[in-house]
Amino acid sequence: EWLSNKIAAGEVVERPASVVKEFVENAIDADATTIEVFLEEAGLSFIQVVDNGSGMSEEDALKSFARHATSKIEKEQDLFRIRTLGFRGEALASISSVCKMTMKTSDGQGGAELYIEGGHIKSQKPAALRQGTDITVAQLFYNTPARLKYLKTVQTELGHSMDLMNRLALGNPHIAFKLVHNGQVQLQTNGRGHVQQVLAAIYGAHNAKKMFEFTGETNDYKIHGFATLPELTRASKNYISIFVNGRWVKHYLVQKAVVDAFHTYLPIERYPIAALFIEGDPQLTDVNVHPAKHQIRLSKEPELLQLVEQTIRAAVRDVVR
Ligand code: ADP
Ligand code: MG
Repeated sequence: EWLSNKIAAGEVVERPASVVKEFVENAIDADATTIEVFLEEAGLSFIQVVDNGSGMSEEDALKSFARHATSKIEKEQDLFRIRTLGFRGEALASISSVCKMTMKTSDGQGGAELYIEGGHIKSQKPAALRQGTDITVAQLFYNTPARLKYLKTVQTELGHSMDLMNRLALGNPHIAFKLVHNGQVQLQTNGRGHVQQVLAAIYGAHNAKKMFEFTGETNDYKIHGFATLPELTRASKNYISIFVNGRWVKHYLVQKAVVDAFHTYLPIERYPIAALFIEGDPQLTDVNVHPAKHQIRLSKEPELLQLVEQTIRAAVRDVVR
């Protein structure tokens, strides 16, 4: 079992940002309202994620390291209507097999502090902690030197975690996020539910102030979001963030629809900063296209693309006028 965990780890855990992603998504699934991430050397030497979510009892904490230990799929049918972020139940098992991990967790009544090395529980004691979970990872990939070799510079690895945190913060404005790297705050949001505050935290208050809002809907989809005119920023295509039912996605055609909406009025080779939130019946979106869950297939795509382009174009027209 240890070997299969290590193999699975190769798929789930590519780099420090993969660990951050799995832990933060678990915290979101646990209904945390504050999530703090501390990294040293971009997470290569140290990763800590602290949340104030539901936490776990001692029994659940021990179970959470077993493979396919997910508490998140009730019926098989749920696989087709997935709302929570995690659903494969292998992240903790996989990650714990390639690092030295400490998990402190409490559900408010019981809890545990576990120390796990290379996938084996080495020590266990009662947790002294208010409700929530505090996981630290030291020496990621210490026992998989081949994986270590593929890692890039601290700056590149940090960039991956920052992109990830930015997306998660934008997709969850009601959660207060904090990302600290080598003692320096990289991102901090207030969790009051305002996308504009998150945009200001990521892109700076001066850019956020210039953004306009847009909303639109069809029978099947609702969209809303914020954007700036491209001429005002040095943004690249990467500054267009797209979310479907709260989940960040890569979708080339939706991104193109956003860009096209601007180019009707501003035919220049520049990109807006934009955050686009698409809401629709989960049955219309297929999350299972890619295991990393970023690529999705959308039903009624032409209808959605038209909605996106027309809604933003109308908003741009009002701003330009
Ligand atoms: P998945 O998220 O796919 O269910 P994981 O391996 O990421 O699988 O986590 C296993 C289980 O551990 C989760 O289903 C959840 O019950 C529990 N868990 C993990 N992290 C947390 C957390 N931060 N707070 C509460 N429960 C957690
Ligand atoms: Mg998970």
